[in-house]
Amino acid sequence: MSILNIATMVSNQQHIYDVLKQNKINNRLSHAYLFYGDEGVGKKEMAYALASLFYCQHEGCLECETCKTILDGQHLNVSYIGVLESKKLISKEQITDLQEEFSKTSLLDGPRIYIVDGIDTASASAQNSLLKFIEEPVNNTPTIGIFIATDLANVVSTIVSRCSLIHFPSIEVTRLAKQLEQEGLTSLDSALTSLITNNMDEAKELFTTKSYADTKALFLEYLELKNRKQAILFYVNELSNLTVENMRLFFKWLIAFYEDVFRIEDKEHLILTALYDKILLYAKTENTILQKRFEFVLNLYSKLDYNVSAKNIFHELISKLF
Ligand SMILES: [Zn+2]
Repeated sequence: MSILNIATMVSNQQHIYDVLKQNKINNRLSHAYLFYGDEGVGKKEMAYALASLFYCQHEGCLECETCKTILDGQHLNVSYIGVLESKKLISKEQITDLQEEFSKTSLLDGPRIYIVDGIDTASASAQNSLLKFIEEPVNNTPTIGIFIATDLANVVSTIVSRCSLIHFPSIEVTRLAKQLEQEGLTSLDSALTSLITNNMDEAKELFTTKSYADTKALFLEYLELKNRKQAILFYVNELSNLTVENMRLFFKWLIAFYEDVFRIEDKEHLILTALYDKILLYAKTENTILQKRFEFVLNLYSKLDYNVSAKNIFHELISKLF
C-alpha cells in the first residue's frame, strides 16, 4: 500500500483517527473493532494506521521502517486477510490459517493485531468460527481484531455485538449535501436526498417526488413517537404509505440516523444535523440497548430484499421497538 495514499485516506477521516489515537493514549481501545462504510472511504487504511500506533516510535508516522513493515504485511504481530480475488470472498480456510498463525507464540512483544478485510463476504459459519478468537486472547497476549465490512447487514449479529462499531461516512454524501444546500434545498432535504443517491440530478429529482414527501413525513413522525400506543396508531394511519419503495428510503434514513447517534460527540461530522435534538435524545439511551436496536433495524432492512411486505416489516419494527 502506498504511504502517500494511506495518509490521504486517513486524513479524509481524521475525526475517526483522532478518536482512536486518543483512546490508545488513554489505554481505552476496544479488543475488537468493526469498521464499516462504503468502498473507498478509508477503512483498510485506518486499520493499518491503527496498527502502526502500537509499534511505531513516532506516534504512527506511517513513514518509518517499522510502519513500512506493517504496510507491507511483513510485521510479525500484524496479520491481514482480505477477499480472495478468485472467489470474491473470505474463505473459511483463510480464517483457519489466521487462527493457526495466532496459536503460535510471537517472537515479538506487544499486542497481536489481525485485520479481516471483508468479513461481510465470509459465510456465517466462517464468521462464527472467529467468535472464540475474539473472546479469548491466545497465549495471554493482548489481541486486537479489526473487522472491515461494506455491508453491515451481512455481518453476523454475534460478531457485531462483540465489536465497537465505527461507521465511516461517505465523503460523497457530505459533499453532495453541501452542494444541494447551496442550490437552495434545506439542510434536512439535502442530507436526506444525498443519503439515497450520489448524483446531483437524481437527488433533485427525488426531492420532487410524492414518494419522497410521504416517506419524509413518515420518518419525521416516527422519530416523534413516544410510546407503544402512539406507535400502533401511527402504524394504522400510515398503512397506505408503507410501500417497499418508501420503506427503502425510510430505512436508509433510519440507519443514517442511528449512525449519527453513535457519533454524537463528533458533532461537526453528523449527517442529519437538522435533526440534532432528536439525535441527542436517542443518544441518552444506554449504548448496548441502542446497538441491539440498531442491529434489529439493519436486519429488517435486509429483509426488504426478500419479498417481505413493507407492512409486515414496519409492523415488526413497531412491535419490537415500542
Ligand atoms: Zn512510523
